Amino acid sequence: MNLLPFGKLTAHKPRTFVPENLDLGDWSQIAPLFDQLETRAARAATVAALEQWLLDWSELNAALDEEAARRNIAMTCHTDNAEAEKAYLYFVENIEPQLKPRQFTLEKIYTAHPLRAQLPAARFAVFDRDVINHVALFRPENIPLETEEARLGQQFQKLSGGLMVNFRGEEKTLVQMGRYLEEPDRALRQEAWELVAKRRLQEADNFDGILDKQIRLRAQIAKNAGFGNYRDYAFRRLGRFDYTPDDCGKFHDAVEKEVMPVVRELQAQRRAQLKLEKLRPWDLAVDPLNRPPLKPFAQVGEMVSRTQKIFNRLDGGLAAGFRQMDDLKLLDLDNRKGKAPGGYQSTLSESRLPFIFMNAVGLQRDVETILHEAGHAFHALATRDEDLLPYRSAPIEFCEVASMSMELLGNEFIEEFYPADENMVGSRCRATPDAQQRVPTNDANRARRVHLEGIVAVFPWIATVDAFQHWIYTHPDHTRDERAAAWLKLMDRFGGDADWSGHETARANLWHRQLHIFLHPFYYIEYGIAQLGALQVWANSKRDRAKALDDYKKSLALGGSRPLPELFQAAGCQFEFSARTIRPLTQLLREELEKL
Ligand SMILES: [Zn+2]
Repeated sequence: MNLLPFGKLTAHKPRTFVPENLDLGDWSQIAPLFDQLETRAARAATVAALEQWLLDWSELNAALDEEAARRNIAMTCHTDNAEAEKAYLYFVENIEPQLKPRQFTLEKIYTAHPLRAQLPAARFAVFDRDVINHVALFRPENIPLETEEARLGQQFQKLSGGLMVNFRGEEKTLVQMGRYLEEPDRALRQEAWELVAKRRLQEADNFDGILDKQIRLRAQIAKNAGFGNYRDYAFRRLGRFDYTPDDCGKFHDAVEKEVMPVVRELQAQRRAQLKLEKLRPWDLAVDPLNRPPLKPFAQVGEMVSRTQKIFNRLDGGLAAGFRQMDDLKLLDLDNRKGKAPGGYQSTLSESRLPFIFMNAVGLQRDVETILHEAGHAFHALATRDEDLLPYRSAPIEFCEVASMSMELLGNEFIEEFYPADENMVGSRCRATPDAQQRVPTNDANRARRVHLEGIVAVFPWIATVDAFQHWIYTHPDHTRDERAAAWLKLMDRFGGDADWSGHETARANLWHRQLHIFLHPFYYIEYGIAQLGALQVWANSKRDRAKALDDYKKSLALGGSRPLPELFQAAGCQFEFSARTIRPLTQLLREELEKL
């Protein structure tokens, strides 16, 4: 039984190293290929032979990658199928742990290879830098510490994911409680918000306890690897060669000076529209004009055809890519029984084709998601002719430029989901007599407004989470009180004008809900950096759409072959996150919001 939504896909290039009939789920068949690569490296006597060795290693990894992706896709499309689950778990438990040490051995062989230095630098510099870095950071004594760190991470997930509240007689998860913050009934919102805040606070000691232990472990891991603090180690481990903690500090300052005034303006508008004296924490997600949710489509087929029309208007090449995905059934987008929650884009590394998984239910959020994931898919399609596997993906700071740009560029044609004649009726119904109030003129503009307001709002939160971690890991011996004080100082800088009186403790513990702090330390500012790139692509498109799209596609085609500043440059963007970059973008956001 084929559990995959798509049929047989042919490899982008015929295999030359991996046998055609190899069973990629059988370690006894895979291991000899690693043996071969190990012995062959020593015999690689020319630069060309070493390059071929790298390509063969890539071919094997692409085949293994695709096998893992296929098993994951089959399982998430059929969570109720025991076979699919078994096949996935078998790979995770029996193949992947065997792969890790073998890959690391090949990395060490590569770094020690006498001909390594003679590889053409223009082609191999980025790959070389990454492998050297990975090998250099490895410490066997850190393995048990990392296992313990992961165990604490699981503890966080279990604690956080298991929290329930009884809301008006029904047991609800905190995720389920989120939707009540969009309810027009203010008393209901407050009740829901307070219940969740109270439930989290009951676990405050546990959340703090987990992080306390993680901070101690991380300090030791950094020390073992020869670093003075965990922040400096994390920058290396995350491969941040092209920006420094100081650059992050500039980003925080620029968000405070440039973005916060816009946040406050938007909050003042919201306050006026809701006719409130003060905004409370439960007033921030509701539609300020109490309108029912937008309805961009009813059937998933409509979502696909309208998204296709957006790409047709945007760019012929991108449109062809999306059509190809639809034709090959590389889109599994509807919400149905037996599907895992959420959405993702996954790349089939050997076919060199992207796959998009979603659970669309007819919300504007679904439209944002399909545009976002399509941006990632375009990235994968753009790198199809790259033979070195690591270069077929870019650093996350740039991957998210590909996807976030597509949200902004796609929204220019969002009328495909909200045709003008339908809006006319809607806007007449919703016109308010109060001339002072800014009323979105139609559903398309309302959708754009929600999107842009979301972008404005996320910058301060990114700055807060990032700055907090800089403080934590450069003050490893702090007390819990000092930590809370450091957080509150950041809330004063980036928290906006909401009135938290009566909920001061919840405000001081707000970081407990941010998974990254526990599971992926320092991994967060990437989204801020990428958003700056996406906004620049969008700004360029307002001046010259054809050129902006051309640059966008060229930069995607570079994959991960160039360092971040060059990827940004190819996309027509600066890789710089101070006020110099943020000020004009903030100005653009403000002007565009004015129009909506
Ligand atoms: Zn993304």
